[in-house]
Amino acid sequence: MTKRKMDTIIKFLKENYDEIIKEIMDKNIDLFEMLVTTILSQRTTDENTYFASERLFSVVTTPEEILDLDDEQLEDLIKSSGTFRRKAKRIKEVSKILIEKYPKTFPKEREELMNLPGVGPKTADVVLSYGMGKPVIAVDVHVEVCSKRLGLVRKEAKYEEIRKTLEDLVPEDQRYLVNLGFVKFGKNICRTRYPKCSDCKLIDICNFPSSGKQLKTPCK
Ligand code: SF4
Repeated sequence: MTKRKMDTIIKFLKENYDEIIKEIMDKNIDLFEMLVTTILSQRTTDENTYFASERLFSVVTTPEEILDLDDEQLEDLIKSSGTFRRKAKRIKEVSKILIEKYPKTFPKEREELMNLPGVGPKTADVVLSYGMGKPVIAVDVHVEVCSKRLGLVRKEAKYEEIRKTLEDLVPEDQRYLVNLGFVKFGKNICRTRYPKCSDCKLIDICNFPSSGKQLKTPCK
């Protein structure tokens, strides 16, 4: 049943988000920039992350250049991302390790990435998926909310369970689509606070509308 539901969702995501996703996939993404941007994105909004990342990478491009910045300069550049002192410290630590341990390369395995300061499973999976094109599901807030509302994973499931359950359900060559498709769908329709269920083409297979009592707006 869940597998059939997943097939319907994959078809829906392909019909609605395939073009946008291909455009994103075609972009040449610098892995260092992606890693630092993902650290900046922790506990803040997309807008704040984007602003901080744009400011930072208009000034620097490499780990060496990050280390050349004074702490105050770096903190100022990333201020909009929140908890900027802590993030600046992490970014410098990560830059130092990359220079020392990975001078002409970049950590390619999940465990290697997760050994870097400030890099947890989600940050590692974002870099592996979006940066390196590896078939992993990175569970951001939208992936979690959509997959729980649609009944693909248990409501109580935490990061690793959600990731493993989705990876079991989604063929490798469709994981990027599901990952990014849920992010787009979650931002536009299945919004965290006020999902637009009346506009949703997946409403017939969704578990949420009948149990959406916590919503301030009616779900249907
Ligand atoms: S019906 Fe509502 S809760 Fe369910 S997937 Fe659609 S927008 Fe999300």
